[in-house]
Amino acid sequence: MDRELVRQLDAELQQLKAEHRYRLANELQSPQAPKVTIDGAERIMLSSNNYLGLADAPRVIAGAKKALEVFGNGTASVRFICGTMSLHRRLEAKIAEFLNVEAAVTFISCWDANIGLVPTLLGQDDAVFSDALNHASIVDAIRLSKAKRCIYPHTDTAALEQMLQENASARRKLIITDGVFSMEGALAPLPKLAELAEKYGAALAVDESHATGVLGQHGRGTTEHFGLAGRVDIQTSTLGKALGGSCGGYVAGKKTIIDYLIQYSRPHLFSNALPPAVCGGALAAIEILQAEPQRLSRLSENVSYFRRQLQTVGLKVLDGQTPIVPVMIGETATAIAFQKALLEKGVFVCGFGYPVVPQGHARLRCQVCATHTKEQLDRAVAAFAQVKKDMHL
Ligand code: PLP
Repeated sequence: MDRELVRQLDAELQQLKAEHRYRLANELQSPQAPKVTIDGAERIMLSSNNYLGLADAPRVIAGAKKALEVFGNGTASVRFICGTMSLHRRLEAKIAEFLNVEAAVTFISCWDANIGLVPTLLGQDDAVFSDALNHASIVDAIRLSKAKRCIYPHTDTAALEQMLQENASARRKLIITDGVFSMEGALAPLPKLAELAEKYGAALAVDESHATGVLGQHGRGTTEHFGLAGRVDIQTSTLGKALGGSCGGYVAGKKTIIDYLIQYSRPHLFSNALPPAVCGGALAAIEILQAEPQRLSRLSENVSYFRRQLQTVGLKVLDGQTPIVPVMIGETATAIAFQKALLEKGVFVCGFGYPVVPQGHARLRCQVCATHTKEQLDRAVAAFAQVKKDMHL
């Protein structure tokens, strides 16, 4: 036992506690749903990525159960040895059909999908162009690759263009961005990115995790929202948010790219495949989305309603059209106190302060779902208004 290691780690943990940055998970005693049980009491859930309300949908649970019964608990193998079941192939074909692209390959998470993508496609002769606020999985994927890293300031397409010009001689160029950025709920400037990709011979990859099942007429994400089908080369996304809330991720796009990942991507080659229950649940979730597009319009109505109502009671909400609705509070301590007071009033919402967001920009990040009722949203807004008044904000 290395006592020095334990001593050092403990000192860091104590430091976190002293700075009020030590994270304590909130424990749910019920399924993920618009109303959940936390600390033994019912709360309106306003912090989940369960955008279409499918995490506890009976048909998704039935799909998962059936897959579990037919295919067992797991693959006990990586994909290429004996871990590919017909269910994986069905799910991947369904994802490709849903997105209207040539092919898709699943990973155990979107984290793994991103890690499986960037280092596999890019080597030392290549360059990757990444938005400064991209998700941590993209950041780590880039760190794992040997490509030259060109990190452009958030959504700054002029800076990106300059970097593309400066790295014109790279063998392969990949522009990669979140479709929806999770802290602001803002959209990537995808049309301009597509234009620059075409102009400078770069491939364009979009992580649609917060956009799948949310944006676009069929819920295909920012790519569909901006009418860029065929101009985005690679889409990654998660099965752990709108598409059933379990876990799993995928890369989708041209068959050649997917074939290449199947041959060379390390998480695909050296880590177990998605468990059957997860595949069955995700398949059911996509089928529900395809059969019930009204879930998308319901989500968008709820988003507009909730945003409007919060503004009506004088709260500062970042503009946007996604279900990520950040209510700007300012100081971290105030945001923490606000969050606690909301919980006491039966509303669960997560606060983000420094250093996750810049100093003075602490916020409560609300996330709206299609299955929230108007009554639940009204109750949440009333709780916000009351806490604002009580705290003299
Ligand atoms: N990419 C983005 C943009 C995300 O927001 C997330 C999750 O928060 C992920 C990837 C990781 O997804 P998963 O939970 O499937 O690993």
